[in-house]
Amino acid sequence: MPDAKDDPVAIHPDLAEVLFTEAQLQTRVKSLAAEIKSVYGKDEFTIVSLINGAVMFTADLMREIDNPVRLDCIRVTSYGVHTKSIGTPQIIHSLTLDIMKRDVLLIDDILDTGKTLKLVSDLIRKLSPSSLRTCVLLDKKARREVPLEADFVGFEIPDKFVVGYGLDFAERYRNLPCIGVLKPERQKAPVWASG
Ligand code: 5GP
Ligand code: MG
Repeated sequence: MPDAKDDPVAIHPDLAEVLFTEAQLQTRVKSLAAEIKSVYGKDEFTIVSLINGAVMFTADLMREIDNPVRLDCIRVTSYGVHTKSIGTPQIIHSLTLDIMKRDVLLIDDILDTGKTLKLVSDLIRKLSPSSLRTCVLLDKKARREVPLEADFVGFEIPDKFVVGYGLDFAERYRNLPCIGVLKPERQKAPVWASG
């Protein structure tokens, strides 16, 4: 009998596939934190997290980093009820902290076409930080439109629309502890999306 932990439907009935279990995510987050610490040493840096998608990843990653850190968030337009990026992303809420002459680590959930990370990196660079590095949990290399790579990458993934661990479809599924792929019939604009 398959272990219930490996059965996507046991985690959520709308999942067709689990790409990363909760345990796999936690293991990778720990090793990623070690990579980040090896670059910054003991220095302070400022984390800029792209909300909402990167909330869980940021929260878990930060707890594995014992450097002095500051946290700020930027909100960028979301996909809404679509599973593909449409048009150009826009910043809805920008920084609150001053990042001039600070070391900045920009964190996002997933690097897809690259438009979001490009937009936000350009904004941050204009504010004259000492340094800017980028960290993403997931990288969908096949979909890149803007030539851009992240400094720290959790996992490379195939061109599939994923949910869970902060990532949503029409604002649902962010609370799943794993990262998975929705059943095809669940990737269409759902009735509850209008309510
Ligand atoms: P990009 O601007 O690189 O095309 O897209 C980055 C943003 O699109 C991410 O911050 C994320 O919000 C969203 N995104 C891209 N791919 C996926 C995906 O597979 N699932 C979900 N839920 N969001 C995605
Ligand atoms: Mg996002």
